[in-house]
Amino acid sequence: MYDKRSATFHRDHVSLSTVDGRVECDYILPDSSETPPTKYVSDGDFEFRMAHLQYRDGDWYLHASMRKVEADEGSSESESKHRTVLGVDLGVNNLAVASTGRFWSADKFNHWRREYENRRGSLQQCGSRYAHENIESVGQKEDGRFEIHLHTVANEIIEEAIKSGCSHIVFEDLTHIRENIPEAAWQHVWAFRRLYEYVEYKSEEHGIEVVQVDPRNTSKRCSTCGFTHDDNRDGESFECQKCGYENHADYNAGKNIGLQYLRRRQNADAGGAPVDVRLNRGALNVSGKYVSLASAEA
Ligand SMILES: [Zn+2]
Repeated sequence: MYDKRSATFHRDHVSLSTVDGRVECDYILPDSSETPPTKYVSDGDFEFRMAHLQYRDGDWYLHASMRKVEADEGSSESESKHRTVLGVDLGVNNLAVASTGRFWSADKFNHWRREYENRRGSLQQCGSRYAHENIESVGQKEDGRFEIHLHTVANEIIEEAIKSGCSHIVFEDLTHIRENIPEAAWQHVWAFRRLYEYVEYKSEEHGIEVVQVDPRNTSKRCSTCGFTHDDNRDGESFECQKCGYENHADYNAGKNIGLQYLRRRQNADAGGAPVDVRLNRGALNVSGKYVSLASAEA
């Protein structure tokens, strides 16, 4: 199966990415200009969408779907453009985990948080005005350290998206983050919101769009087969009770967050732009099929 990224469709030939590199093939079309293949392939008003390559009785056939290019296409360019998304899961043990398998540990953050709580606790016991002022200054100093760290994580998430050729970075909707992550302390909630704001703000200059999706079931759902069950997740480990897929629970969730956006797009404009979720060795495409890195990047 080919799309615009794994194949380049020309009017007289196609360039296909294969495990052995690019292969160029000329079309053999019926002579009559009225037969559908000849008519549409030569017509500049039609563009190639997806294609299936099939081997039959010693010959190769390309089954291509074509679409009429709308006159106002230019104005909705961003809508018809191919999307590749980086899903990002947020959590208390790992601040962020990307659908490419990159982890940003929360160890440093949690260490500071505990230190801060301890110091604040001992200052509070003094109860004097001096102690109160000290609590505030500790708070400000800690905020500063947390913020620098979050800037670094935000930059690295954007780097990961650029490196993976992503047009979108997808986060879970933070509105109900307290209910979704009950173990999160207020500092975590604060950190998630900051991190989202930094990524959103910084990604603009790189032409990357940042979006939020409904986080429902992203931690219980299998990113491979879609089976959703409470028993799939046990702490940090995920094991699908149906297909047996096993991986780090946060990584599975990161992939699901990307897939959630894919499904939303599909519902919004059925048959519209294809969407891929970027993974560590390739991408999940619009039909849920795994595309290897070689063909996904071609
Ligand atoms: Zn499964």
